[in-house]
Amino acid sequence: MIIIILGPPGSGKGTVSYFISRQYNIVHIAPGRMLRLLAKTTEYGKQLKEKYWGKGDLVPDEIVVDLVRERIDNSKKGFIFDGFPRDINQAKAIKSFIKPDFVFLLELSEKTIVERLHDRVQCAKCGHVYHLKHMPPKKEGICDIDGGKLYIRSDDKDEAIIKERIKVFNEEIKPLVEHYKEVLQNVNADQSLDKLLEEINSILRR
Ligand code: AMP
Repeated sequence: MIIIILGPPGSGKGTVSYFISRQYNIVHIAPGRMLRLLAKTTEYGKQLKEKYWGKGDLVPDEIVVDLVRERIDNSKKGFIFDGFPRDINQAKAIKSFIKPDFVFLLELSEKTIVERLHDRVQCAKCGHVYHLKHMPPKKEGICDIDGGKLYIRSDDKDEAIIKERIKVFNEEIKPLVEHYKEVLQNVNADQSLDKLLEEINSILRR
């Protein structure tokens, strides 16, 4: 099974992908997370951060497509792509080898996006995401899963960068919606995680 999760920043792509990947035993591929890890561990990754994603811009298509291609292991029984493809060029570049069974578009108002990003923290080790009000960790500042330290993403701290990310999303999403219209499912992301997962599961079970 191949699933693609699309949505604006803060819509819950990472959280949904985490739970669905575990439930169906499929591989979770998140280029945003891969880029953050690269920035922490390599000079090349740091440069990508400075030039692109640290400003709220997308990383060039060929770089991201190559990162994803390297992660795909054909022996696995399925994948969930979290925030990928991000634009129509990426969708076209992967068309021959990634044919999604389901594409979910998580919908959220701009006001709610800004509120959610304001209270979002994530694990420095595994990248798991928490919301301080709606989905807090059991112990303050510590990841429930692996005990890693929780931090605020640098691109979540600055309002101008958040606005730029939303703008980029709004520009890129329309051609993607058209491209995937036969497998696309719109879901309301402004509901509790349990309800959101139930809605997605009911579509996956059809
Ligand atoms: P995310 O963790 O999905 O919010 O991604 C964080 C940042 O990484 C984004 O704002 C982009 O700059 C970059 N990024 C993530 N996925 C992609 C992608 N598929 N194509 C280009 N840039 C991406």
